[in-house]
Amino acid sequence: MSTPDSASFRRLLAWSFGPCIPAWAVLAGLVAFAELGRGAAVAGGIVVFAIMALLVFSRLADFDRLIRYAEESLVNPDAPLPELSRSATARRLLAAIAALRKLWTERREAADGLARSGQDVLDALPDPLILIDRRRRIISANAAAGELFDMDRTAQRLAGRDLASVIRDPKVLEAADQALQQGRKGTTQFTLPSPVEHTFGALVMPLPPMKSEGNADGTAAVVALYDQTERLKTDRMRADFVANASHELRTPLAAVLGFIETLQGPARDDAEARDQFLEIMLKQANRMTRLIDDLLSLSRIELREHTRPTDIVDVADVIHATVELFDRQAKERRTTVTVSIAPDVPAIAGDAGELGQVFHNLLGNAIKYGGDDGKVEIIVTLSDTRPPSMQGRGGCMRIDVKDSGEGIPREHLPRLTERFYRIDTARSRQLGGTGLGLAIVKHIINRHRGAMTIDSEIGKGSVFTVFLPPANQSVAIRAAS
Ligand code: ADP
Repeated sequence: MSTPDSASFRRLLAWSFGPCIPAWAVLAGLVAFAELGRGAAVAGGIVVFAIMALLVFSRLADFDRLIRYAEESLVNPDAPLPELSRSATARRLLAAIAALRKLWTERREAADGLARSGQDVLDALPDPLILIDRRRRIISANAAAGELFDMDRTAQRLAGRDLASVIRDPKVLEAADQALQQGRKGTTQFTLPSPVEHTFGALVMPLPPMKSEGNADGTAAVVALYDQTERLKTDRMRADFVANASHELRTPLAAVLGFIETLQGPARDDAEARDQFLEIMLKQANRMTRLIDDLLSLSRIELREHTRPTDIVDVADVIHATVELFDRQAKERRTTVTVSIAPDVPAIAGDAGELGQVFHNLLGNAIKYGGDDGKVEIIVTLSDTRPPSMQGRGGCMRIDVKDSGEGIPREHLPRLTERFYRIDTARSRQLGGTGLGLAIVKHIINRHRGAMTIDSEIGKGSVFTVFLPPANQSVAIRAAS
């Protein structure tokens, strides 16, 4: 049994004092009416106080321990139960306090669990979310926000910081102030320059009052960010594409119109000039036809890109047929084309026409850009690994189209499959290129769930490698074994 400290002791004495007052009043009355001597009355008073103190001390000491237990439980939920003496009332009180404490602990755990699962849900969202208080300080943030703004990738480290230290854009800060001060929802856009430039849309919404430490009136707002970089890039690419396509068509059209005017006017009777101009006009018209054909192919492939082809195709047949088509062109440039196909290469699920276009464009480029007296090799093998850009696991078919041309400077490689991207536009045009060949290749390979890599060495040549997934898993197993 623990002993009460001096403060408790003083309190117990004070508690004993009150109940003695009626008895002391009676003794004083008896003395006043001369029924009792003073000495006896004083002795009686002391005895009464002593008995009372004994009673109070034994009963109320338990209550004192209960008070201290309740006080301690507020700060330490694991505070040990006090030992009580006899009082049944004190025991009931202890049982009630313990039950209350259990209930409170359970509720607090439930509330903590709810808050944690709420945070888990927010953390699972891919878009950054930031909760701010009345003073624009961050109350909490989800994992996506932590990843975006904190190098250590922890949302907790954002808590307590001013929103302005995370997003410096004045438009976002103004929208936050409006939401907090006037309760008005606002949207805006801002750009984060590093590590890679990204453009975000920001929605700032006032929230119902939410009291938290240091935010007594509970004013709060949520800042929801959504990445718009890809959408803006697509919009820009679409606009660029229309401008480029119009430009590509306008140039030969302007040439044709110019020659028609010349033939109608000054060169009307010049037979030599007419033959020469008609030849140029034919070239320009062919160029427009090629461009329109490529544009139509591209849009057709884009429309079908999400449906995977299901026909069973023998890639070797498609390659041999394509090589035959280039026979004359290769001879004209004194280029040798060799094909080597591994014996166990299986059929794949694909679209023979589209795959034919892939090899047509790659082989055409290899001959075009390979220079005269070139050497082009097409090598088909089974690869037991896939490049990182390709979905799925296991082996796949690998087709290398190698040329011995002058090579492609490294900085151009990532952009070669963009529409109308050419290293030397004049040269590409002169060789009959439209600037769409590799873009078409990329879309067809995407439709086949494959991948393409480009490697090149200046002065040595380029290798365009196409990876295509097998038609069934048995191929993957064979490739891996
Ligand atoms: P183009 O119709 O101009 O050939 P592509 O989309 O087929 O258009 O190719 C884009 C550009 O990539 C070409 O203009 C050329 O500069 C470069 N290129 C493609 N293939 C090769 C290659 N085998 N060797 C060198 N450069 C190439």
